[in-house]
Amino acid sequence: MAFSSADIEQEASRLYAKLGKLGWSFDSCQAYAPLTLEINQLKKQKNAIILAHSYQTPDIIYGVADFVGDSYALSSHASKTSASIIVFAGVKFMAETAKLLNPSKKVFLPSMDAGCSLADGITAEDVKKLKAQFPNTPVICYINTSAEVKAECDICCTSANAAKIISSFPQDSLIFIPDEFMAKNLSLQTGKKLIGWTAKCIVHQDFNKDTIKSIKSLFPSVKILAHSECSPQVAQLADAVGGTSDMERFVRGSSASSFMLITECGLSDRLRAEFPDKQFIGACSLCPYMKKISLKNILHVLLHEPKENEISIPPEVAIKARKAIQKMLDIS
Ligand code: SF4
Repeated sequence: MAFSSADIEQEASRLYAKLGKLGWSFDSCQAYAPLTLEINQLKKQKNAIILAHSYQTPDIIYGVADFVGDSYALSSHASKTSASIIVFAGVKFMAETAKLLNPSKKVFLPSMDAGCSLADGITAEDVKKLKAQFPNTPVICYINTSAEVKAECDICCTSANAAKIISSFPQDSLIFIPDEFMAKNLSLQTGKKLIGWTAKCIVHQDFNKDTIKSIKSLFPSVKILAHSECSPQVAQLADAVGGTSDMERFVRGSSASSFMLITECGLSDRLRAEFPDKQFIGACSLCPYMKKISLKNILHVLLHEPKENEISIPPEVAIKARKAIQKMLDIS
């Protein structure tokens, strides 16, 4: 598509208003403007929306996303959209969730390599074995699981609603999969025995308590916010533990001026742009799976709607997996 220099200038200014706060130059915004213009135009023509996870890069979040959030907010939004096409700027299990909630719509994932170490760390067969080992024990699965795994579970949860869902069961002992650290953190929080699995998030497993301790000693007034996928040793040193939406809410409601976010860099970038008067310090970590999504591959799927990028789930799996997600949405 050809755009006039006035269109490009106007789009670059729109991008710069947000990306400039993150250190982007006006020239970089100008270079990206034809891409974001074309994507936004195609979205209108095809009645498509782009749902983006908070860990996506700022050019996607501020350039083309229609809705940005954590897994729960994105699932909930996906269940209500009237768009005909959903392009998911996130990882595969998220796009599958959107498809489960919108079976009649086309859902595209711009890179099929956008996996997740948690989702890839457990199979449906593993869940069947756990159920045989612990009969009559309800199974809660974190949303970071494949559709096949969800189909074997009683209910799904996200980091934003996990404690609420665990507490909704009268039993003292529950199966909680697949995140080992999250199960331990939630067991401490809810007082329930959670029979876990061994999968870990490759981003959050790497934070260690010594880094947090040294940041605390250097900046005593900093508020430490840890994702619930971090180890219990890290979580116990934090001022708050939760999902990305909990972290955003904490920053919004806090009178503190500096924060350390123990999570993926995308969230720090977004909060830096949203709260320019607050300071975000310390190291974050990049999720290589989330970073498989780019403006270029978003444009490619919108233009060509390639079959290999379209999410498809066998009906017998979809019926059972949808029930687990719907139960979560009903409780939350
Ligand atoms: S940050 Fe961790 S949990 Fe999230 S997609 Fe990446 S590997 Fe999976």
